[in-house]
Amino acid sequence: MQFAVAILLALLSLPGLGAPKRVLYVTYSAGFRHDSIPISQQVLQDTASRTGLLEVVPTEDLTLISADNLRAFDAVFFFTSGDLPLSDQQKGDLLAFVRDGKGFGGVHSATDTFFNWPEYGELIGAYFDGHPWVQQVSIDIEDPDHPAMRALAPSFQIADEIYQFRDFSRDRVRVLMTLDTRSVDLTAEGVHRTDEDFALAWCREYGDGRVFYTALGHPESTWLDPRFQEMLANALLWLTRQSDGDAKPRGGTPVIANGGVGDALVVGRALAPGSLISIYGNNLTSGSTMQADFARTLPVKLAGTMVRVDGVAIPLLYVSPSQINAQLPMDLSAGPTSTLQVWLPGTASNMVEVHLSPQY
Ligand SMILES: [Zn+2]
Repeated sequence: MQFAVAILLALLSLPGLGAPKRVLYVTYSAGFRHDSIPISQQVLQDTASRTGLLEVVPTEDLTLISADNLRAFDAVFFFTSGDLPLSDQQKGDLLAFVRDGKGFGGVHSATDTFFNWPEYGELIGAYFDGHPWVQQVSIDIEDPDHPAMRALAPSFQIADEIYQFRDFSRDRVRVLMTLDTRSVDLTAEGVHRTDEDFALAWCREYGDGRVFYTALGHPESTWLDPRFQEMLANALLWLTRQSDGDAKPRGGTPVIANGGVGDALVVGRALAPGSLISIYGNNLTSGSTMQADFARTLPVKLAGTMVRVDGVAIPLLYVSPSQINAQLPMDLSAGPTSTLQVWLPGTASNMVEVHLSPQY
């Protein structure tokens, strides 16, 4: 009998056999109200229930945010705006809910929420600072190993309202995807950041809990996009601890081994135009290890990383925190010293320069 109970308990603990994890989806808008909210409610419910592991409960009833009422939920997910009328007690209860091991997530204007409550900004990881672009953009996946990102790597295109953030630091969050700044006009009105670091999704740990945010989600078309739906379903599974994915911040300034000595960077010691080089070091990407798709044109930006020779981005075959394989330009000229730079989004100090002396 004891044996049978043990088997039953083991079965119940398998994913899919327990009750679905419950997500409270809050769409209260104290500021700008997005037209896509009704579609988003339908999409999030359908997408979640298709997993068989999640149940999404949409609401605009803020009284549900209290220690007692949140006991019935495993995560809270915001598509909100402005200063929501929560009491200090409710705010404390929400933070404690996450800190004690549950999930908190948000899309789009969830960062355009609670400007006057700094602890909220810390929880979600940044505050909205305008949307310089409303257009089709290219987005790089920095962490293809995170379950929410798997279907999107290495990059994808989408039309949306593209946010810029303030009070954002890569030291506090793990960036999952970032704007490919080559797909926008960096001189557009309202662009404040000068470090080209426009993260568009990230995750973090908060106490014992998990936090996920993506800046996408303004238009209905994004909600109806199966790629966005899959990202959200996987994010909710991660928030409710039904999948694993690293949330530790990364970063650190890249270091090139033997920086400054051209030959030390180069496999085969050949620096002929078009030759393949390997760059060794530490923190060489802001993202994960990623290999280019050889069937296509080699990308010049991979996992958020670029290598520039004399200011021009060169094709990348492979990037990892300790090694980059890249191809030198075909028109690298003999004689003058060329500058090679490993560039990561973030502060200007995240650039490392070495000098190449083409010799062939
Ligand atoms: Zn919007």
